[in-house]
Amino acid sequence: MYVVRTSSRFYRTRLQHVLQTWISLVSQHAYFVTDKLLPSISHDHLILTDEICGQDKHAMDTLCCKTAHDFKLFHRHLTNYDWFCHFDDDQYVNTRKLEEYLSTLDSNRPYYIGRNSWAKALARRKEPFPYSFWFATLGAGVCLSKPLVRLLQPYTQNISQFVNGCLKENYHDDIYLGFLIFGYLNITLTKNNQFHSHLEKDFYNDKQKFLETFNEQITFGFGLPNYYPVFLPNLYESRLDRYRLRSLHCLLNPHIDECQMRIHK
Ligand code: UDP
Ligand code: MN
Repeated sequence: MYVVRTSSRFYRTRLQHVLQTWISLVSQHAYFVTDKLLPSISHDHLILTDEICGQDKHAMDTLCCKTAHDFKLFHRHLTNYDWFCHFDDDQYVNTRKLEEYLSTLDSNRPYYIGRNSWAKALARRKEPFPYSFWFATLGAGVCLSKPLVRLLQPYTQNISQFVNGCLKENYHDDIYLGFLIFGYLNITLTKNNQFHSHLEKDFYNDKQKFLETFNEQITFGFGLPNYYPVFLPNLYESRLDRYRLRSLHCLLNPHIDECQMRIHK
């Protein structure tokens, strides 16, 4: 299950780019957490946050509230999926690679997968659980196996419980999730460096390395001015492919009809 967190404010600047590309390959399994109805997304694939989360903004309480809605969706679809993944709307997902990777793991075991946000485990001295722990940045994408979603149910059953937990610990949503998973459940992060967010400043800087390895990556962050796959050949006019995601999409999925035309042009 793919859950994408977005905001109506980002429909044109972000969401359209991902709908046109990676989401089109998995649309049946893609769901959205957003503040208002979005054009072109059916009601049963979206959960609205505006009444409960208040004004949509980049703040600890709102984003925790939105993440709590991820779990509402996860619980609703618990019997349909083995893996539950969160992505932000400024990410491209190499869905084939992701599914390939997940299929190498035993989905009957609790798994918490993602990119460690910081180079060091977060040192925690306060009670409860005064132990250091790793957390995965939600901005690079995070996947949980079904058993872990089940184990998290006591802490994610309702929205206010999760939001109050974030506020009480004074942790952002991704840190709070890592804390719940390690502190309460004693499960450690399975780190995957093929997940990327825009916090990695040098990911798009090294042309040769990027061109040699982009095929292997599972997620990519994107944003202007220069955090996007700028070294890829431009298969579309730039005004139609501002972040070069359509080019990336075609290079990763050359079997798509439209891409065959673009690549051989
Ligand atoms: N977001 C949101 N409401 C807001 C601001 C951000 O839902 O008012 C979402 C946004 O769509 C994205 C995530 O939260 O999926 C992170 O936001 P952003 O990428 O703007 O900031 P970052 O924390 O990654 O720098
Ligand atoms: Mn972001």
